[in-house]
Amino acid sequence: MTAVYIHIPFCKRRCNYCDFITYANIEAMLPDYLSALQMEILNSKRECDQAETVYIGGGTPSLMSPEQVAGLLEAVRQRYGISKDAEITVEANPGTVNASYYAQIRALGVNRLSFGVQSFSDAELQLLGRIHCADEAIEQFFQAREAGFDNISLDLIYGLPEQTLSDWRKNLDVLKGLLPEHLSIYSLILEPGTLMTQWVEKGLVALPDDDLVADMFEETLRALEAFGYEYYEISSWALGEARESRHNKVYWRGEVYLGFGAGAVGKVGSVRWRNTESVSEYIRKTQVNARSQYNGGEGAEKMNLDGFAKNATYLSPAVTEIETLSNEEQMNEMMMLGMRMTREGVSERAFYERFAVKLEERYSQQISKLIKLGLVEWVECQNARYLRLTQNGYLLGNRVFQEFV
Ligand code: SF4
Repeated sequence: MTAVYIHIPFCKRRCNYCDFITYANIEAMLPDYLSALQMEILNSKRECDQAETVYIGGGTPSLMSPEQVAGLLEAVRQRYGISKDAEITVEANPGTVNASYYAQIRALGVNRLSFGVQSFSDAELQLLGRIHCADEAIEQFFQAREAGFDNISLDLIYGLPEQTLSDWRKNLDVLKGLLPEHLSIYSLILEPGTLMTQWVEKGLVALPDDDLVADMFEETLRALEAFGYEYYEISSWALGEARESRHNKVYWRGEVYLGFGAGAVGKVGSVRWRNTESVSEYIRKTQVNARSQYNGGEGAEKMNLDGFAKNATYLSPAVTEIETLSNEEQMNEMMMLGMRMTREGVSERAFYERFAVKLEERYSQQISKLIKLGLVEWVECQNARYLRLTQNGYLLGNRVFQEFV
């Protein structure tokens, strides 16, 4: 199973809470950036299976025209192939798109949309610095439905400054009338250097306390269960297993993913690499150096990638960081990411098949401690055992993940 991620680090405006790799006011560089992206994809070494998922994220990918989206998908098709029933997602910002856009990208094979809605309250959206209003988000959702999208994900954030439980309930109530197939719902995290963090530090706005944030989360669990959703990952709900994010499950299960674009990350086997975060450097390195590097010309960096190819292969010239994870690090990562999956957790068998070590033995102390605290449990399904979070563990997920660092 191969997942392809393509990063579009362009936004109309920087949101007040955002620390993603994205930039405002450089849209003039978009055409050159997309040419560089196509070159990076087309020149990358073909050693993986065809893509089962393609995720175009950002930033704001919906700043691209449908023709530009087509160019990227065509590059992936040419280089890796895209499986017939692949999940192809494009992130969309409600302030950047219109009805004909949906119809056109649907015709290209995009079959999943992920909307960064964040809130259905105009006051909250303003505080977050979003460019859209609540009515726009709802209208865009229905336009996407009319264009034939039957797999739509919405992102929402709770625990906003000055937000009350009743404010958050109003957001949840709107969902009842939309019923998107998938929801990613996060509590606000203050990231260093953002405007929101500065406001909180200066006392200009106050965050809800931990108890109130916990109440909001529990309200979310209750409401979404009543609407028919299944809680399957620490921040994700879906209307049935078939609507769970196949792309994200690749990350959580530690499977193969290839990342393209500025700041994108890829991982095959024990090797993980990351491209430069700078858009101009990405364009320069990818366009100028691509041929000589990929073809093994002078100055080419030859890298031996365990699990990626039997022979040495060439990474993209835009790569600035490469790490080879030790066995220990891979085990810890499998636990930290796998335990995020609230329904399936970490499979005892999958752990053994990957590391030839029994999960219960490798982490005996941590598991006993967490079971005593009531935060994790063993469950059996079809003669296999899985370690997963308990309901009490959902709220204390970070406490559990820390045990495996
Ligand atoms: S639209 Fe998304 S990626 Fe862009 S600044 Fe806002 S939160 Fe960040």
